Amino acid sequence: MPAEAWSGPADPELVLRQVFGHPEFRGRQREIVDHVVGGGSGLVLMPTGGGKSLCYQVPALCRPGIGVVVSPLIALMEDQVAAMRQQGIAAAALHSDLEPEARAEARRAFREGRLDLLYVSPERLAMDGMLDELDEHRVALFAVDEAHCISQWGHHFRPEYRALTILADRFPGVPRLALTATADPRTAEDIRRLLGLLDEPVFKGGFDRPNIRIEAAERTAERQQVRSFLREASDGRGAGIIYCGSRARAERTAEWLRGDGWDATPFHAGMEAADKRAAHKRFAAGDAVIMCATIAFGMGIDRPDVRFVCHTELPKSPEGWYQEIGRAGRDGLPARALLLYAAGDIAIARRRIAESAAPEAQTAIERMRLDSMIAIAEAAECRRRPLLRCFGETPSDGPCGQCDNCLSPPRLWDGTVAAQKLVSACLRTGQRFGLGHLTDVLRGEKSEKVLRFGHDELPTFGVGRDLDVQGWRAVARQLVARGVMDLHVEERPGQAPAPPVYVVLPDAARPLLRGEASLTLRADVTA
Ligand code: ADP
Ligand code: ZN
Repeated sequence: MPAEAWSGPADPELVLRQVFGHPEFRGRQREIVDHVVGGGSGLVLMPTGGGKSLCYQVPALCRPGIGVVVSPLIALMEDQVAAMRQQGIAAAALHSDLEPEARAEARRAFREGRLDLLYVSPERLAMDGMLDELDEHRVALFAVDEAHCISQWGHHFRPEYRALTILADRFPGVPRLALTATADPRTAEDIRRLLGLLDEPVFKGGFDRPNIRIEAAERTAERQQVRSFLREASDGRGAGIIYCGSRARAERTAEWLRGDGWDATPFHAGMEAADKRAAHKRFAAGDAVIMCATIAFGMGIDRPDVRFVCHTELPKSPEGWYQEIGRAGRDGLPARALLLYAAGDIAIARRRIAESAAPEAQTAIERMRLDSMIAIAEAAECRRRPLLRCFGETPSDGPCGQCDNCLSPPRLWDGTVAAQKLVSACLRTGQRFGLGHLTDVLRGEKSEKVLRFGHDELPTFGVGRDLDVQGWRAVARQLVARGVMDLHVEERPGQAPAPPVYVVLPDAARPLLRGEASLTLRADVTA
């Protein structure tokens, strides 16, 4: 650890060049840095990889005193501290995972005023008389990283963050800079309210990440789909992340990928701390590793050459998804994101929200987020449009050229009659059968089950030979996505959503059956 705090120039440009080695500020960094150096507070909304860290690191060096950075994850703090030290900045972290010696040393450096930057977890900040000690020091600024953790509307609520609400009263003269990649207006408002930033500016910048190519497809044959994606997306040097819905799935995915010869490693919250650290290290060391991870893997990854991110299940919200895919291509070079999902994912996610014990105000938001996510997955237009709209940005009109829908626009067709056939097959068989069976009925297959139930006698038997099995599945998925059909899905912990046990019809199916609604569907481009 450098013995002394920064005593170089206090000019932001010089600090940027001399300490960080960057020739110039990016986007709104300059504006934010000037504002904070001048004593101002505010909220920074920038996508992952947008360059939020410099917004507080530079002012912390330019202003007298210590910069206190609140950060939710130990791995994140350690990465940042290591990077700072390499640049010759006196930084330290205080968190629960430190060896007693390291903690004592960090505290000593802090007490003796030898630090430029101190990273602390929110609970540490509130503990051990830490705030009293800060009173005795000159604090250059408070930076609250991953600030959405303070809001229960955020997708990562952390109750410990609530301790930060006292900062505004307790240190009125010290700038507070909240930073997050989550920009949905409600969360942003909540952050500002809780951190006393309602009268302070919001700096919002560049949510589009044009170098990330976005694709989404129905999960029909997961391994094959992932295989062909990896062949295209991996450059053999950069890393990749495959997000899985459960720990068991993360383990299994890593296993079959290794069987395929990929350097794959699982990562999830159930792993031993040492294994997690080892996985983090390999990732940080620059190996061409594929992390097969749950969403526990994420915060604190500052690896510039992540070449691809794949989701194998439907994420709960566009905010979470965008943050996860935003980990790709931080170096600005081409990167890829693939989303695989199925109708069962939609049904399960909806049911979880419906059965949640959370207050209605919150489940309403969760429903809205899920619907936005479904809209992106099901979009027939440029996927960046529904995506950027979620972040309050107005997307440009033309094709982005970097999403599957722009690269090969999907064919749209009038699916009204097909939808009526499917819904009617469901109704006539008593809403007690799965999609496979309904497809057999529609396609006139005399399967054992069809014959056993006498479904070959139904008027709908054989009326749907114009579509193949995949075609019917695509129709069904789109009906589920629009809430015209519902699936009762059996959830088996740790496994992929099982095939729907049966297809049922909500009230929303009525207009379709009465011939009062028409439906435009997209013809899926099958990989
Ligand atoms: P965020 O915290 O918003 O996810 P980071 O602060 O980690 O983003 O920055 C992302 C990457 O961009 C880092 O590798 C960082 O070094 C780089 N970066 C940030 N600002 C600049 C700049 N002005 N010039 C060059 N590189 C930058
Ligand atoms: Zn597009």
